[in-house]
Amino acid sequence: GPTVGVLALQGDVREHRGILESLGAQTRAVRTAAELGAVDGLVIPGGESTTMWRLARTFGLLEPLRKHIQSGLPAYGSCAGMIMLADRIRDGVAGQETIGGLDITVRRNAFGRQIDSFEGELDFPAIGDPALRAVFIRAPWVEEVGPGVEILARVRAGTSTPVTPEASVSADRFPASPEASTSAGRIVAVRAGGLLATSFHPELTADARIHAYFLEIIKEA
Ligand code: GLN
Repeated sequence: GPTVGVLALQGDVREHRGILESLGAQTRAVRTAAELGAVDGLVIPGGESTTMWRLARTFGLLEPLRKHIQSGLPAYGSCAGMIMLADRIRDGVAGQETIGGLDITVRRNAFGRQIDSFEGELDFPAIGDPALRAVFIRAPWVEEVGPGVEILARVRAGTSTPVTPEASVSADRFPASPEASTSAGRIVAVRAGGLLATSFHPELTADARIHAYFLEIIKEA
């Protein structure tokens, strides 16, 4: 089977490795350019994209990551990892950079003013039935996709995004942007060639289909 690296600067590395290994893949923690050069695919986990960006820059890993992804290394980014793979971000911190490669614009913490975290069922035709139970934690959504990008999943119409008491209090002082006022229909999974990204965290559920799908993408590459 393939050897899949998991970028191990920060975030939920262990959960991704566990699922990938349960599917028969070998995994490696990736912290250096040499380690990056030795894998057939890379998972960029959820965590905090600002921290991941700063650590990647500090460790001299940002350019090697860009180089490998530009030259075709398959990569799957979950949540903060989706942000790292995006060419453009909104609501980033000042100067925040990404690895890029996916021609998408993502909004950080997009669901966040209403709800920090929620779960919802998603239709994800690329992996078939049944619907996927998706866990969102301070998640981004995708606001724009370029012509080569395939939309794999959207938040279902009718998915309730309960407003917390704290959120409704602070909403008076910090009104949600018009963009953030509704989540139904928002794009939460995309693919372009060997690059896959989801707003949600499949590594936190028992459903291994997203990781199996990524292993298929690696095999095709
Ligand atoms: N809000 C985080 C960020 O901006 C992502 C959260 C996550 O990965 N669960 O990076």
